[in-house]
Amino acid sequence: MENVIIIGTGPAGLTAAIYAGRAQLSPLVITGKDVGGQITLTSDIENYPGFPEGINGFELATRFQQQAERFGARTERAVITGVDFQHQPLTVKTDSGTLQANAVIIATGSSPRRLGVPGEDRLLSRGVSYCATCDGFFFKNKKIAVVGGGDSALDEGLFLTKFGREVVIIHRRDRLRANSLLQRRAHENTKMSFMLETIVTEVIGGQHVEALRVKNVKTEKEETVTFDGVFVFIGHIPNTQAFQGQLDLDDNGYLIVDRHSRTNIPGIFGAGDVHDHVYRQAITASASGAIAAIEAEKYLAELEGKAYT
Ligand code: NAP
Repeated sequence: MENVIIIGTGPAGLTAAIYAGRAQLSPLVITGKDVGGQITLTSDIENYPGFPEGINGFELATRFQQQAERFGARTERAVITGVDFQHQPLTVKTDSGTLQANAVIIATGSSPRRLGVPGEDRLLSRGVSYCATCDGFFFKNKKIAVVGGGDSALDEGLFLTKFGREVVIIHRRDRLRANSLLQRRAHENTKMSFMLETIVTEVIGGQHVEALRVKNVKTEKEETVTFDGVFVFIGHIPNTQAFQGQLDLDDNGYLIVDRHSRTNIPGIFGAGDVHDHVYRQAITASASGAIAAIEAEKYLAELEGKAYT
């Protein structure tokens, strides 16, 4: 029987683990498939305070984990297969067993949204990618498509100009959603060009991406355009599948929490991108992990009839 189980090891989960550890709760942290979450897919994080020269995402995640373990957090490499939150104690089922706890902090993050077109799955890692930092290196001197019109598409697209000879932003609307600074940088970059009001209908290739079938949404004209790779940045889907029917989720599947990180079930808290589709920064995820752990500590103290100090 655990005091608190933390699900997820991104900045939100591991910061919650640091706080819960320091509160002597000996938290159990379920890692999911990989430790560290999305920051491990980023090479350098330059906006996390305290690292004026920037820090490698994987290294930052490792430091979070070491700091949490120093305060008594325990990590278990397992994947959640189901939960029962309708009864106390709360039950969390994983691929390596069933766990019970008085409190649970959900910090499962979100995953990149896919295009859902023919060829996308088959050519994954053969030219189809969702991570410029991970795969950009393989596209030296290549012609790259980037799908999306938000900050991620432009940010990652600009990063890809370091490698590719040409980066084409393919966006479904006539204007970009990205902030004006990124738009200015993108327009000033001579390697970058734009296909607006255009959607991708198929990823074409044998062993590797060779072309994209694209359609102009205004004229309905379709054409095949040669590309060596396609990077997709069209938003994210929260990792809440395991909690459907158990916790209140919004129309897009994000966990609903109040300003104290509380879900609709007492003892269950949410932190990071699993509920935040607006800010999605390492620092905001960390902050919400801290809030969730402080609230979990309060909840457990009240459960035991102790005064929270
Ligand atoms: P986003 O802002 O939601 O943008 C997603 C983009 O993908 C939009 O342009 C959207 O088109 C397009 N899209 C969505 N579904 C699509 C589909 N099925 N097919 C084709 N296009 C589709 O997501 P994001 O860019 O990942 O950014 C998420 C958050 O992180 C934002 O708050 C952003 O500010 C933040 N962020 C900030 C930075 C930075 O400041 N450097 C970098 C990365 C992310 P529409 O425009 O037509 O809706």
